[in-house]
Amino acid sequence: MPRAVAGPEIERLIQLLARLPGLGPRSARRAALHLVRKRAELMEPLSTAFIDALAKIEVCGTCGNVDTRDPCTVCADPTRDRLILVVVENVADLWALERAGVVAGRYHVLGGTLSPLDGVGPDDLNLKKLVSRVHEGETKEVLLALNATVDGQTTAHYVTDLLRDTGVKVTRLAHGVPVGGELDYLDEGTLAAAIRQRTPF
Ligand code: ZN
Repeated sequence: MPRAVAGPEIERLIQLLARLPGLGPRSARRAALHLVRKRAELMEPLSTAFIDALAKIEVCGTCGNVDTRDPCTVCADPTRDRLILVVVENVADLWALERAGVVAGRYHVLGGTLSPLDGVGPDDLNLKKLVSRVHEGETKEVLLALNATVDGQTTAHYVTDLLRDTGVKVTRLAHGVPVGGELDYLDEGTLAAAIRQRTPF
């Protein structure tokens, strides 16, 4: 057991920082030291930001996104295309698509994927709300932006069946060669999907 180099308050800070994704014990120590050094410019505003956000975080009753308001910022944005509804597994996927900035539609967060092996069934996902949104709204296209995994694709098929009688167009993301990817390095499944989904040039 290494000897403690700081008081219990700072050691606790390091332990908590080390639980963040992407931070191991070494970088947590470095981050903690940085915070301690910059306590006025960084540590104090950060702790206030934590408390402010913590008091307000809630799940959007419309789409399942996590925000500090309900309806969330995305749902409340009047400039978004109301004809397209993008279905994602989780909030991280919503943020990833927003970073890409290609679809300015609205979203629906399922909160997971169907996974019989892990005991995740349709009732565990935000599916009823999805069906009612499609029924009552102006949605013309539902884009299933789900992971290209077995569970993701099982979920995509399930949602497609669920929306069959609504008359909306159901689309999914293309599978294929990543931008900047070299064919030689791709697995056979990805190459086969890319060839099946080839597009006119
Ligand atoms: Zn929302």
